Amino acid sequence: MEQTTRALTVRKSIDVTGIVQGVGFRPFVYRLAHECSLTGFAANTPSGVAIEVQGDPDLIEQFLTRLQSEAPPLAKITSLTPHEMEVQSDTAFRIVSSRLDSPPKALISPDVAVCADCLSEMMNPRDRRFRYPFINCTNCGPRFTIIHDIPYDRLRTSMASFRMCASCQAEYDDPSNRRFHAQPNACWDCGPHLRLWSADGSPVDTAEPIRETARLLERDAIVAVKGLGGFHLACNAASEAAVNLLRERKHRVEKPFALMFRGLPEIERYCVVDEPARKILLSAERPIVLLPRRPEAAVASGIAPNNRFLGAFLHYTPLHHLLFASTKLPALVMTSANLSEEPIAIDNQEAVRRLQSIADGFLVHDRDILRRCDDSVVRVAAGRSQQLRRSRGFVPVPVTIERESEPILAVGGELKNTVCVVRGSEAFLSQHVGDLENLESYRFFQESLDHLQRILEVHPKVIAYDLHPDYFSTKWALAQEGMHLIGVQHHHAHIAACMAENHLDGKVIGIALDGTGYGTDGAIWGGEVLLADYNGFERAAHFEYVPLPGGAAAIHEPWRMAVSYLSKHYGKYFGGLDLSFTKGIDTRRLHVVQQMIHHEIHSPRTSSCGRLFDAVAALAGVRSTVNFEAQAAIELEMAAHDSTDEGSYPFDLFPDGTHWRIGTQNLFQSIVDDLLRQDCIADISRRFHTGLVQLFADLAEKIRAQNKLNRVCLSGGCFQNLLLFELMVSGLRAKSFEVYFHSEVPAGDGGISLGQALIASARLRAQS
Ligand SMILES: [Zn+2]
Ligand SMILES: [Zn+2]
Ligand SMILES: [Zn+2]
Repeated sequence: MEQTTRALTVRKSIDVTGIVQGVGFRPFVYRLAHECSLTGFAANTPSGVAIEVQGDPDLIEQFLTRLQSEAPPLAKITSLTPHEMEVQSDTAFRIVSSRLDSPPKALISPDVAVCADCLSEMMNPRDRRFRYPFINCTNCGPRFTIIHDIPYDRLRTSMASFRMCASCQAEYDDPSNRRFHAQPNACWDCGPHLRLWSADGSPVDTAEPIRETARLLERDAIVAVKGLGGFHLACNAASEAAVNLLRERKHRVEKPFALMFRGLPEIERYCVVDEPARKILLSAERPIVLLPRRPEAAVASGIAPNNRFLGAFLHYTPLHHLLFASTKLPALVMTSANLSEEPIAIDNQEAVRRLQSIADGFLVHDRDILRRCDDSVVRVAAGRSQQLRRSRGFVPVPVTIERESEPILAVGGELKNTVCVVRGSEAFLSQHVGDLENLESYRFFQESLDHLQRILEVHPKVIAYDLHPDYFSTKWALAQEGMHLIGVQHHHAHIAACMAENHLDGKVIGIALDGTGYGTDGAIWGGEVLLADYNGFERAAHFEYVPLPGGAAAIHEPWRMAVSYLSKHYGKYFGGLDLSFTKGIDTRRLHVVQQMIHHEIHSPRTSSCGRLFDAVAALAGVRSTVNFEAQAAIELEMAAHDSTDEGSYPFDLFPDGTHWRIGTQNLFQSIVDDLLRQDCIADISRRFHTGLVQLFADLAEKIRAQNKLNRVCLSGGCFQNLLLFELMVSGLRAKSFEVYFHSEVPAGDGGISLGQALIASARLRAQS
């Protein structure tokens, strides 16, 4: 009798890796084991969760299947390995304490929007957490932004200072509870609390800080609201006065503001929302989604001037929900709380110090934000979601790479900086660090790479960096002692990043179009076709060089680039052309710029595609100076949407040694002719976009004929231009190319740290 029982009982050990800690995985395993009548245990380990189950073999099979198909919403299983083992004598299924016998490798979860269960408790007057703004459970709440070290438990988070009350502790200890081991678990009795402060940081005497905040917003005030990854500056999105005041105080001219909405129906009233966009809006990551705005959208004119899109997102913290429940306002501006391009403020006192000239009040709380993390920005293009800024909700989820690599730190570029740490076959990109042009940003850069290395428990001896000698990240890398340093060309990194996330190996045709990247010849590149793999690249084509009069000044004043191109093709004084463009420029400044170009003073050579966009935008009268990066190019793109013109402007191709030089004489002559005939700007812009696509499709064909390559990778900031991007994808597909582009990481400079890391990894392999 005893023998038959034994024959029907087996035991299996199962190692689960991925994001399986702090996401309710063990209670789920516990429930599942009970449902399948299995005994054994589950424990957190350095790499994930270890499970042993014992019982009927069929039920164990069922357990294994359901382990994957019914895992909690936030769990991401990367591997699951079962092994048969000897039957033991346990009588129940238990959750046992963590086993930390080797360095931790388990992944930390990103921050997650409040879940439906917590929301319904929060809105239920009979629940003990009724209207509690910090309600959370293992399926939702803060993670990455409150963790200062691993393994992930309450002591190593900013919840350490809050001692759980008996009720919270009971939930925390109960394996069948949704809050079992929910590290940020809290309630009115034991957790963080909100306060409203006035502009000078003094407490406002109110028992209802959220309702009071809502009143302030309804009266057109600006309130700094402490969120998950930092403070937002909030104001009524429909109020011209509030939005103008915010712009004035924040010193932010025309750059679009993101809008947080009270619900999906409201977003749909303001914007066109298709199915993929709806999914992203409702996802637990809750990024800002760029959506085509409806003409009747009831927002202040200053929200996103000259832009056809609105950046929209849904409320994602319990606090946001309570704020919207306290007002009828459908949408609030929710913009990162900072002065122009500084990092987002996270600390209460720091917020008051930095923002008191902007905010009329501060809605603060006593749960510290340990990691800055801006809202992510996503759009849908060519049928896929594309990251424009990958941050809250996505970091620190890794990008899986094809090959195991030794640990590498890649420090990214100068603008929209991110850093990347490779561990094994996973690449971890940091949150958006931003433009490294002030002291606060430098500190944030340093903090981000320290924190990433700490939570991943990896300390690379190899650093990959951009070749630009003036980039802060480059200078930082070169100053590190005892490291193996690997310099990577900017556009090569762009293409490698695109290859990496598409899991490509071998050679590709890489089209890298952006504003600025340091070339191997010391010129500023930015309109490049490369024959590239991870090991290296050849330059297959590029725009001919033109002077960039005044260097960075030309980026802020696109009219300088128009002067540069006109001087090239029409001579120093444009051959007496009668263009309205020239009439709009101060004669003295025009003369200075012409002299700079003529005598090659402070005018580096550039093949930048971004600057070509600037030149065309300025010449066509779209914009001669900009208030934020790429504004002229964005407005030129917006203009093209009103045109159905099917023409395209011609470019010139010159063979030059082993590559093609792209000339622009025909292009500018055509544009000038059209301007003199007073064609509309929409048509001119459209023809320019179509011409670029034609140009690169032709080039790709020539390169395919010579090199037998059919895979094309698109990368670089210019592909944030939706029209250019979608036309390019369809133009290349029409010629039967396999077209690869970004989805998980940005096409702009926020993605290059990934490419740098992959190139460094390949070089190390080649050397060994
Ligand atoms: Zn929850
Ligand atoms: Zn409590
Ligand atoms: Zn770039």
